[in-house]
Amino acid sequence: MAPDNAWLPSSWRSKPVAQDVKYPDTEKLSKVLNKISSLPPIVTPSEIERLRYQIGLVQRNEAFLLHAGDCAESFDACTHENISAKIGLILSFSLILIWGARLPVVRIGRIAGQYAKPRSSSYEKIGDREVLSFRGDNVNGLDPDDRTPDPERLLRAYFHSTTTLNYLRGLLTSGFASLHHPRDWSLTHVRSASLRREFETIVDGLSDALDFSHTIGVESTASYEKGGGHGTLGEVDFYTSHEGLMLNYEEALTREFPIPSSSSTRTNASKPAPTKAFYNTSAHFIWIGDRTRQLTGAHVEYFRGIRNPIGIKVGPSMADEELVRLLDIVNPDKEYGRVTLITRYGARKIEDHLAGHIFAVQQSGHPVAWICDPMHGNTLASSSGLKTRNFGTIIDELTSCLRIHAACDSRLGGVSLEFTGEFNEEGFSVTECLGGSMELSEDELGLRYQSFCDPRLNFEQSLDVAFLVSNYFKK
Ligand code: PEP
Ligand code: MN
Repeated sequence: MAPDNAWLPSSWRSKPVAQDVKYPDTEKLSKVLNKISSLPPIVTPSEIERLRYQIGLVQRNEAFLLHAGDCAESFDACTHENISAKIGLILSFSLILIWGARLPVVRIGRIAGQYAKPRSSSYEKIGDREVLSFRGDNVNGLDPDDRTPDPERLLRAYFHSTTTLNYLRGLLTSGFASLHHPRDWSLTHVRSASLRREFETIVDGLSDALDFSHTIGVESTASYEKGGGHGTLGEVDFYTSHEGLMLNYEEALTREFPIPSSSSTRTNASKPAPTKAFYNTSAHFIWIGDRTRQLTGAHVEYFRGIRNPIGIKVGPSMADEELVRLLDIVNPDKEYGRVTLITRYGARKIEDHLAGHIFAVQQSGHPVAWICDPMHGNTLASSSGLKTRNFGTIIDELTSCLRIHAACDSRLGGVSLEFTGEFNEEGFSVTECLGGSMELSEDELGLRYQSFCDPRLNFEQSLDVAFLVSNYFKK
């Protein structure tokens, strides 16, 4: 008989599925899933292992993690402009962190697969109609007449993910991402003169440092030598992620592979190291959302069996002992590089919960990377009804987070942000969050509000956050 904790990519099917999508055409769903199961992996085990190694460095305070991108991607936004703007902003942000904190930055985009959204209600009101809620482009359409879940959209999600990643890989290997040319990353649109000056000072300093390293021949000293890394100061690593919400899609892309021989993150030497593992090949990193993390639910069951590094959203409803039980389930051998906790309490609630969570995890001996998501606990409706976030509140949660970690003898290992580097044809950035150095006011929100999901920080507001974190860690 199979042991109680035996696991297969399909084990989740016997558990209650939070946020389940009911497809009217189940035969079509099976056909689509069979097709996806036969398509090639989107990412590879060696890339996944490399990220595990790098998250291990974050856990040992030797690197900082930046997790960022849109709340949700859409199929229509899969364009050259959007992808390069997003990468440009992630690179600019990480450059500011590297410069201030003098630490390597592990970059994980909410990109190439972030199409599904959890919803608090299955139905929503649009005008005087009640329709099924929009669940993301891989489930149904934003158009109220297109809300029936269509399995074909999962296949479209696969191809949009591969197209995005293909272009991303092209950008990363063709010089766009080179730290030798950071001015290519669209700073032309930043109108705040002081922000531009601050960034340009870093770029100048970095160019000098790179020239010097080149002259004396030590360019590769910043590479992550273990974990298969080959990046140098002039090249960058980049990883993809999404919320692992649609388990049938995740299952179809879960494949068993030999574990690449150089990988070891084990702490329990008494057990023989496994030689094969199930990898989720849809992204390097996937996370469990705050609405789907029930201990006996389908999502936790799925996540416990995959080898990828995973994120867990931790909100105010998580009890201290529940968090430890969750870690015991998804990381029983307490392996380094496996779990990232993404806390998202809200500026007013962080004081009540974070210290207790840190203490419980410290007592349990679980290695985790602590990441602050100052976005999801701080969403509000503006007077015009638009969903927004206040820059000041975002900063409040982030600064409280830094302070509480320091007071608890812990360390914040990174941030998780919803931001966009998009500009319109006239060079204006989106207007979705209030405040920041551009002092965006409530009546300006409607000017260029483009998110169809949560409000995102724009380019300038994001650089403001980068400087804040970078200055905090400045050595
Ligand atoms: C998200 O990250 O977009 C999200 C829905 O987060 P959470 O699960 O923390 O609410
Ligand atoms: Mn969101």
